[in-house]
Amino acid sequence: MLEINSIELRYGAVKAVRDVSLKVNQGELVTLLGANGAGKSSTLKSIAGVLKPSRGTITLNGENIANLSPEQLVRRGVAMVPETRDVFPDLTVDENLQLGAFSRRRDTRGVEKSREFMFDLFPLLAERIKQPAGTLSGGQQQQLVIARAMMSDPSLLLLDEPSLGLAPVIVDVIFEMIVKLRQSGLTILLVEQNASKAMKVSDRNYILSLGRVATHGTTAEIAERSDLKSIYLGG
Ligand code: ATP
Repeated sequence: MLEINSIELRYGAVKAVRDVSLKVNQGELVTLLGANGAGKSSTLKSIAGVLKPSRGTITLNGENIANLSPEQLVRRGVAMVPETRDVFPDLTVDENLQLGAFSRRRDTRGVEKSREFMFDLFPLLAERIKQPAGTLSGGQQQQLVIARAMMSDPSLLLLDEPSLGLAPVIVDVIFEMIVKLRQSGLTILLVEQNASKAMKVSDRNYILSLGRVATHGTTAEIAERSDLKSIYLGG
């Protein structure tokens, strides 16, 4: 579904990604793991059209998407949940969700279906439908930004550090949601610092180091390599 070949990503003179290649097949849950600054978020941003590669190619379902805008990518089924976890604080939960469906707002039946699916998946949001999003807890806001991204009806969901700064019990809830989304047929590329947690739900994993893919493999293959844990995954 998604194929990245030897991309380089820069912020001006800073090379955030030097040479990353990866593949995500339809229906897979793939992780991008690695230390702070390894280039994980930048890689996600390039798939979402926020950061243009200075070298290399990105293809989605056979189409070169490296130069498409974020809006064009949303219409092609790519949704990203950035680690900043930004909600529109003065808008209600429901209004935040409606904004997530902006690109398909004319498809009122489809939007309503997605909204019902999200309220089934995140019952807590259903209870807070009229509440301003700024009054939600961190864990609730994380659920809202995932649900808002899902309102565009993506086929590929890019999740950047959904567990960041959340209490362990809330992290468990978020990971349960990720598993349910995946079971619904969604393809997911997940960036996580919490490697052990992420590998409990993933099919395959890429470990990034200093802007390159240090290694990759199925979850069983990576789990067997105790050396990787101490080198790349923080012990
Ligand atoms: P983290 O978990 O800390 O976000 P990461 O693996 O996602 O780490 P990136 O955020 O992709 O890494 O950053 C890769 C490199 O690019 C780092 O050296 C970082 O300092 C640099 N970088 C990231 N964003 C910018 C920016 N807006 N301007 C300049 N350099 C940046």
